[in-house]
Amino acid sequence: MLKQTLLLKPLQKKRSNLLIRDFPGKALGKLKPFSFSMDFKKIEGILSQHVPANAVLYCVTLWQELPFDFKLRKTRLSKVGDFTCRTGSRPQITINRDLHPYLFLMTYVHEVAHHRVHQGYGFRAEAHGDEWKATFQTLMNPMLSDEIFPEPLLSGLRKHMASPKASSFSDAELTQLFRSLNDREASAILLSHIPEGSIFSLHGKWFKKGKLRRTRVLCHEVKTRRQYLVPVDMPIGQAQLALL
Ligand SMILES: [Zn+2]
Repeated sequence: MLKQTLLLKPLQKKRSNLLIRDFPGKALGKLKPFSFSMDFKKIEGILSQHVPANAVLYCVTLWQELPFDFKLRKTRLSKVGDFTCRTGSRPQITINRDLHPYLFLMTYVHEVAHHRVHQGYGFRAEAHGDEWKATFQTLMNPMLSDEIFPEPLLSGLRKHMASPKASSFSDAELTQLFRSLNDREASAILLSHIPEGSIFSLHGKWFKKGKLRRTRVLCHEVKTRRQYLVPVDMPIGQAQLALL
């Protein structure tokens, strides 16, 4: 049996506070459902490429609870994502495809919060008013964990979520945290950078890099020979390169 990757413990199920019935007096179940071209597998496929691995299940669940059309967009300088719902058409969320997984996750939940507020209150609620803030906070809460976000980003997000802004970039501290994450990763050695057969360190242990399996690499710990699937974009510590 393979161990399911380092760092990838299954997400605790904390779904009870996420249900749509949180909106007082709004029985969303009675709304006429649109038929969606997207299905579970399709949305899971997209999300697993863009949000942190431990957040995929949660994000798919949000979609299942109240579906929408979901599209990736090229870099837009004006925005990172949006939610649109015109009368008679299907609600749609778009997100820029080049976002860092942590920012992608936050943007996804931001837009899902718009979708839920729209379903509950229609155009009566302000775009980033109290209803949206409360919904965004509720939906982000299960994600504010060290299984999803690394420090110091996690602490920055916790602070930000106490009073979320319309744009996370109007929070200079949070913006800086997202930026430094990109810088750090740009200078890091990733598992994909070293050849098969190399020995590398990760979390204080030594591993040997094996075969690539889709987006993960089969590696074994040198000492115990236990096998692990490690994401190919995982930043690693020291490496002794294999001579090929
Ligand atoms: Zn917004």
